[in-house]
Amino acid sequence: MQLKTLSTLRETNAEEALSKFDGLNGRDKQGNPAVTGLTDQNKATARREFNIADLVGTNGRYGALHPAALSNDDPVFAVIAYNTNSSGYTQTSVAADQYDKKVYERDAQASGVGQQVRPVSIFIHESAENRFFSGMAMSYRYGHQYAQHREAAIRQDLHLIGGFAGGGLEATSAVRQRPR
Ligand SMILES: [Zn+2]
Repeated sequence: MQLKTLSTLRETNAEEALSKFDGLNGRDKQGNPAVTGLTDQNKATARREFNIADLVGTNGRYGALHPAALSNDDPVFAVIAYNTNSSGYTQTSVAADQYDKKVYERDAQASGVGQQVRPVSIFIHESAENRFFSGMAMSYRYGHQYAQHREAAIRQDLHLIGGFAGGGLEATSAVRQRPR
């Protein structure tokens, strides 16, 4: 996703979602990748994001939350936590790629503008993106494009409607709030 607006109206209990993460993917003093503990500010940001819709964390993705290990110490590569009590996202635009300014999956994107993004679309998109990260490279640019292609193909196969998670999204509460 390329998320533009971060604001929330609704408070939910994000503590359980937050407990699935144990830090932030950052760098140590030598500049090597390292997991740093969550600051109060990191936690506040994560709570706000979960209140809007979801929290996604990936091992090794710089700046992203780091998934906590399972209780048997098995490491976790990615966590996608969707808040079903949130009003989620609305797809507000056909988004051009932030790097090359081309529009990928234009038809699929156009079919969802103005609509609420269903949780299933978020899961398809985020799963594809994380699969790309785990198997190929930690490149947001190509991970996002890959996820857009996968989402468009699955959307067609399953005849899914609603907003396209790989399009331009805004928090639904913010979208609804604007006209007064
Ligand atoms: Zn994406």
